[in-house]
Amino acid sequence: MDKKKRYSDYNAYLRELFGQRVQKISIDAGLSCPNRDGRLSRLGCIYCNEKGSGSGLSKKGLSIREQIEAGKIGSMKKYKAKKFLAYFQSYSNTYAPVDHMKALYDEALSCEGMVGMAIGTRPDCIDPEKLDLIQTYTQDYLVWIEYGLQSVHDETLRRINRGHTFRDFARAVDLTRNRGIQICTHVILGFPGKTGR
Ligand code: SF4
Repeated sequence: MDKKKRYSDYNAYLRELFGQRVQKISIDAGLSCPNRDGRLSRLGCIYCNEKGSGSGLSKKGLSIREQIEAGKIGSMKKYKAKKFLAYFQSYSNTYAPVDHMKALYDEALSCEGMVGMAIGTRPDCIDPEKLDLIQTYTQDYLVWIEYGLQSVHDETLRRINRGHTFRDFARAVDLTRNRGIQICTHVILGFPGKTGR
């Protein structure tokens, strides 16, 4: 841990694990989200954009490999990074049949310099079969699942049109733990009407 800091930041954590800088590269895998495709809603969360809070690069025709290679150039130039994490960021990256998920993850991890991946998704888009697949990667790679929760208050979740409850999140974490998969939770602080206390 950086002695000047009173906490361990993500960069320091990765450096400690891999002995060098590791850069996350954002990927748009061309998936969708039940809160956008009509299964739950077509409106999405109130803060989401039409790119699923991501880059929109899949719609521009870039494959996962092409997105990673482009991201690597910027990371190498800016940070001199040689190791990378594939960050499945846009939309819900477990919202697909298991064999399709596998093809996406395999393509990303087959790129040179990849040491792992972070999979952004919704807590209601996970099940034991999908987790069994994701768990297989933990033997050789650092694997994170990043669950979008945003608020622990169901009333706020309703207001922002998340389409899931806190209970869905708790269930997802319960299913995910003890599998060697790291768990990250996305929260948004300061929604209108919330004081943070
Ligand atoms: S879950 Fe993510 S992709 Fe889906 S509507 Fe909300 S922010 Fe957008």
